[in-house]
Amino acid sequence: MSNLRIPGPTPCPPEVLEAMGWQMVNHRGPQFAQFLKDITSDLKTIFQTENDVLVLSGSGTGGMEAAIVNTLSPGDKVLSVSIGVFGDRFANIARAYGAEVIDLKFEWGKAAEIQPVKDALEANPDVKAVLVTHNETSTGVTNDLESISRVVKESGKLLLVDAISSMGSIKLPVDEWGLDVAVTGSQKGWMVPPGLTMISVSPKAWEAFEEARMPRFYWDFGKAKKSAEKGQTPWTPTVSVVFALSVALKMMLEEGMPNIINRHHQLAEMARQGVKNLGLSLFADERYASNTVTAVSATDGLDGKLLTKIMREEYDIVLGGGQMSMEGKIFRIGHLGWVEENDINAVMDALKEALPRAGFKGA
Ligand SMILES: *Cc1c(COP(=O)(O)O)cnc(C)c1O
Repeated sequence: MSNLRIPGPTPCPPEVLEAMGWQMVNHRGPQFAQFLKDITSDLKTIFQTENDVLVLSGSGTGGMEAAIVNTLSPGDKVLSVSIGVFGDRFANIARAYGAEVIDLKFEWGKAAEIQPVKDALEANPDVKAVLVTHNETSTGVTNDLESISRVVKESGKLLLVDAISSMGSIKLPVDEWGLDVAVTGSQKGWMVPPGLTMISVSPKAWEAFEEARMPRFYWDFGKAKKSAEKGQTPWTPTVSVVFALSVALKMMLEEGMPNIINRHHQLAEMARQGVKNLGLSLFADERYASNTVTAVSATDGLDGKLLTKIMREEYDIVLGGGQMSMEGKIFRIGHLGWVEENDINAVMDALKEALPRAGFKGA
């Protein structure tokens, strides 16, 4: 088995994989209804929310699209706070559906600053919603969402959050921070294969839903809520992934969220310290370095693409490369979900040997 160290899909525990092989049930029958009910209740515990939580079949990007089309209308002004690839994606989805997007971009590797968000909201009082990424997986940076949400809430705007690679792994209390829509995906910190997106929807987001006129069908929150009340989903769900999630959630609640958050913090510290000990430097501003993914700069002659190739072919360790303009300039180590110390140690041991062979002249 490879040491899959990318920020999703992440490795799954054997119990979760076993659930993927369970026989099908009627997705409109009582057994499925019980699964959906239990999952929703467990998710609310982990999201720390009283809001509705919808479980929809699709990947995280589908959840981001759902967040937009269910709360906005064509022509609505939205403020996009972007610090990387996924922040830009959120803005592009809004643009594709006819929103007027104001881009507030920060240098990749840095977190969003709070004052410019405040200034942009003051300069654009007609903004309807703010789009923000909690944990920017492409750069390994976690935004100070608590401070951002405070500013957004003061302005009375809707706050739509891509929490795909943070929810369930790092601190993210949905109600305490006032997030109107928060989106995550099963293949990230949840230890589950891809196929589900889980989305919380606040009362304020439901008010926006009543007025939202963007075209939608598959992703309609109203249909999903109505079906959920009967223990169903509007369309055939990824039943096997629902089984898997039900098992993973029990494991997560058994470990306990404070322990999970702490484990991710400890492992991220190990990863950061480990690469620094090898003479490498972090791509992310260390004050905001993510506890789910570590982005490492390919400096001192290091060929990032060659490194990931050697790591994969000779050590069976699969690292993430750089995305878009970051290709070859960084590499990324995923440490979210089902991960422990040995997994990180193995990466460091292999890197030590592989780095010089991939051109690295540092250390
Ligand atoms: C993985 C990820 C996405 C995209 O999710 P898909 O499941 O690939 O559609 C979006 N945002 C962030 C922050 C992610 O980590």
